Amino acid sequence: MFRTTLTHNNTAGTEVNDAPYTEAHARTALIRAVRRGYDVEATAAGGAFITWARLDLDPREDGRVLRHFRGLTITPDKPVGKLTPTQSEDLDMIEQAGERARIEQEGGRDVIRCGFLRVPPGLTARYRDRGYVTVEEDGRARLTLAALLARHAQGHVTRTTAPAGWGRPADSGLITAGLNKPGRRAGLTYSGSSWAVCSCAELTACADTREGARFKAREHRCAMTAAFVTARLTA
Ligand SMILES: [Zn+2]
Repeated sequence: MFRTTLTHNNTAGTEVNDAPYTEAHARTALIRAVRRGYDVEATAAGGAFITWARLDLDPREDGRVLRHFRGLTITPDKPVGKLTPTQSEDLDMIEQAGERARIEQEGGRDVIRCGFLRVPPGLTARYRDRGYVTVEEDGRARLTLAALLARHAQGHVTRTTAPAGWGRPADSGLITAGLNKPGRRAGLTYSGSSWAVCSCAELTACADTREGARFKAREHRCAMTAAFVTARLTA
């Protein structure tokens, strides 16, 4: 189960609504949001943020269009913690096994069997208890939506670098005399540029400001989440 919070800004202010979602609801909401081109970003805890703009006519002024932002926050009841490499490997194995991942008894305890590989009883119990794995009525074991989202988001941890600030033009390879004002910064140039990088190594973008780099980082996370939702959740 998930908790959801819908926030919308309109002329009357900000409204907030809360509603519980089943896994099927949350999955449908994510798929629809991606299809409509909304910004969707998976969270490391196994939830997601969905944001979109709605255009409304201004009731006070004829013909003027206002943009109102809406946001839906989806939070799993059991947040997923940071996955260790072993846990990630086990979850990968369960997902790749698809229909073949099943709960079986071994010495009176449950194990997840994936073909000739298996998850030991202690870990099987832990993954179910933490809400990473769920078992269908027919005995099939599969990853929960929260585990899928968390594993995705934990593979795309972005950061931005601090701008270099004031420096000597020669240090940055610039051919300039620097700031032409008397004082401490005379002869120096200012570099506000910042890099946005991601742990997946697919993002290395430079922006003129750190704010710009943060925007590029978020854009990357949303693009990766959209690709993930389309490839992994719509099947
Ligand atoms: Zn990435």
